Amino acid sequence: MAVSQNGWPVDPARRSRTVPGTNVRVVVADGPAGDVLVWVLAQFDRRVEDLDAGADDWGYANRPIRGSTITSNHASATAVDANATRHPLGKRGTFTAGQVAEIHRILSEVDNVVRWGGDYTGRRDEMHFEINASYARVAAVAARLNGGTPAPPAPGSGGHATVKRGSAGADVALVQRYLGLKADGIFGADTEAAVKRYQSAQHLTADGIVGPATWARIAAGLGGSVPGTGGGGPAPAQPGTTLKRGSQGPAVTALQRRLNAWYPAYSHLTADGVYGVGTESVVKEFQRRAGLTADGIAGPRTLAALKL
Ligand SMILES: [Zn+2]
Repeated sequence: MAVSQNGWPVDPARRSRTVPGTNVRVVVADGPAGDVLVWVLAQFDRRVEDLDAGADDWGYANRPIRGSTITSNHASATAVDANATRHPLGKRGTFTAGQVAEIHRILSEVDNVVRWGGDYTGRRDEMHFEINASYARVAAVAARLNGGTPAPPAPGSGGHATVKRGSAGADVALVQRYLGLKADGIFGADTEAAVKRYQSAQHLTADGIVGPATWARIAAGLGGSVPGTGGGGPAPAQPGTTLKRGSQGPAVTALQRRLNAWYPAYSHLTADGVYGVGTESVVKEFQRRAGLTADGIAGPRTLAALKL
């Protein structure tokens, strides 16, 4: 069986998939490799750089590595290129240091089963991300991503996933921000220790796992200002609410906290409940990235996209 550079089979079952949060489509292998690559692209779009609507995000292509006879990982549909025209093959420094750090953070969240072409020691390929691990390792990561993100949240959790050591994502960042930790969205040993301390102080079972009971307590601690968490009073943003420049109150605080927790790469708002210029500009940035009308007004569609 022909394999590409990373040992994955050439011309596998594959399909065109939309990167969540974008209109961009890429052809990737069915199964865990495609799941992980699409997740990485979605995080890239959200946290590093908008994926261009233009046709320069590429997945499957049966071809050798340019300038080589080795079969490219694009041939096994286990590689993707992001914003290729902005990050041409061979060119260095097409991302800022902050963006590079964020790329590495994303890849660490998938246990580095994806390698970035910007980390090649030879010719750099900064547009390029590829699977660089065995099927078993990639499948384990995909199972965690699929289990931690779209899986239905536990009853009583108010829409938040149960998170614990090894979890990653927005709900982890929310817990971290609440506990005063660095909100990197990765549930490691420090987060676990802080959760246990919090649980002890709250007379909850100190197991380090943030399930429905702990979520409910976090919501209560925030005076119910984490909407949808349950147990902490009514969600501040009622259906049909529109928040905009000049709005004030707990619904604005909830919006600010949500933006900070979910989008730490660009949202650093003071959660003061006052919808000023800063909040407006972060809302615009969110809308732009989410494909909504970027008017800076948090109406029903924007609030729904933020699960508020
Ligand atoms: Zn490539």
